[in-house]
Amino acid sequence: MPRESKEAKAARVKSIIAGLARTYPDAHCELNHGNPLQLLVATILSAQCTDKRVNLVTPGLFKRYPTAADYAGAPLGELEQAIKTTGFFRNKAKSLKTACQALVERHGGQVPRTMEELTQLGGVGRKTANVVLGNAFNINCGVVVDTHVARLSRRLGFTRETDPQNIEQALMPLVPQAQWTLFSHWLIWHGRRRCFARNPDCPGCEIKDLCPRVGVPRRA
Ligand code: SF4
Repeated sequence: MPRESKEAKAARVKSIIAGLARTYPDAHCELNHGNPLQLLVATILSAQCTDKRVNLVTPGLFKRYPTAADYAGAPLGELEQAIKTTGFFRNKAKSLKTACQALVERHGGQVPRTMEELTQLGGVGRKTANVVLGNAFNINCGVVVDTHVARLSRRLGFTRETDPQNIEQALMPLVPQAQWTLFSHWLIWHGRRRCFARNPDCPGCEIKDLCPRVGVPRRA
């Protein structure tokens, strides 16, 4: 990709945001949830798993464990069985239990609203905390960087970074803070519907005129 001035990049990002906002006016978090605790649980389960699969498991789970105390008090083996189909179930069950124990002990069973408190729960990383803050509380504290956001950020020439935390640091100054949560939804929706990991649909892409297609073979 040829060198791009800071101003040109800012203008291009602005146009990409406008294009994605037009394409996905209803973009939202695709993990079904009814309250912050449910979103925290669903996000923990979504690691290395599709939202669709998580959404199959959570209705029964939320019914069986309505409060943080229910997860905190559940035998680990029982939790593991309940979430088994989401994969990596031993680690996830441990994360659920640890995080919910911390919620009960330190936050009266409620999900806290700061990055610091969330990431100190145990089993909750920055990405999960960003999902919860942005989607349960409308707090734009950072940009969620999942596999789609990481891939599209490189293809679109936003950054060459590969580490999620570095990608997030590169994205934050490019995007207005009020749009951080939506911005990751737009990239995730575009990654799921158009800019696939393999064989992206560049000819049909709504923002193709703004994309340098970094790392994408020209035949795509
Ligand atoms: S032009 Fe291709 S690589 Fe660029 S965003 Fe669209 S689908 Fe992805």
